[in-house]
Amino acid sequence: MNYRHAFHAGNFADLVKHAALLQFLARLMAQAGPLSVIDTHAGRGLYDLAGVEAKKSGEADAGIVRLMAAADAPAEFAPLTAAVRKLNGAGPVRRYPGSPWLVADALRAGDSYLACELRPEEHQALRERMHGRRGVRTLCADGYDVAAEQTPPAGQALVLIDPPFERADDYPRIVETVAAVWARNRSATALVWLPLKDLETFDGFLRDLEDEAAGPLLICETRMRPLTDPLKMNGCALVLLGAPAGMTAPLEAICGWTAHTLGEGGTAKVYAL
Ligand code: SAM
Repeated sequence: MNYRHAFHAGNFADLVKHAALLQFLARLMAQAGPLSVIDTHAGRGLYDLAGVEAKKSGEADAGIVRLMAAADAPAEFAPLTAAVRKLNGAGPVRRYPGSPWLVADALRAGDSYLACELRPEEHQALRERMHGRRGVRTLCADGYDVAAEQTPPAGQALVLIDPPFERADDYPRIVETVAAVWARNRSATALVWLPLKDLETFDGFLRDLEDEAAGPLLICETRMRPLTDPLKMNGCALVLLGAPAGMTAPLEAICGWTAHTLGEGGTAKVYAL
């Protein structure tokens, strides 16, 4: 386990994932009843963009720093840019919120959030950052193992699956996790993040997921460059399961701006399966 999200925080893929997550949460929260959010791969919750890791990769400079300076960013990014502004004031973007920070800030009374993180030192930082937040729990655990048992058997639930993809079994484990969550609660929804390297791997994953799916899948591809080098992360994809109505247009706006503005010959598409 070498993956450290501090190198990648605030990159183009985080922008797509976090902007989409906030749109998804807003639509679920517009429906009746409390919401349970389970984050299988939570990370440390908050990232220092002036730290060695972020400075070394330069990914945030090509991502969130450009988004915050953009005059043409679509309104669908506004909840994310507002969260970043709240953390940084009017100064340079130094702190970037991870999914735990964004979800914890969005919770209403009666909602709950479970953040799972396997690496002990990342979990320790996460725990400190989430301390005292209403409705929030953290677990130092394998998120795939606990996602289904932590999903309430009825009512609104969102499972966020955002693995590092440093192991070959991440793809089958996502499919197994989604199937187990649905076996427990048919109305649960999920948001899965994936890297786009080559289309063969991605198509194979979608076929496996479709076999388990209890409802339609909404796919959102952000290709930052043509997929000619399978060893590179050429873009990212989101798969939404049980997405509430009205998610297609916001996803098109988020992925389209990211691919066209931050990519090199980038393209984006959103489609249902
Ligand atoms: N979701 C976070 C966000 O949006 O801010 C970023 C998560 S990062 C891509 C993936 C995290 O998963 C890393 O912090 C890594 O240590 C952790 N991790 C790796 N395998 C895991 C597992 N099986 N269960 C829980 N966490 C895991």
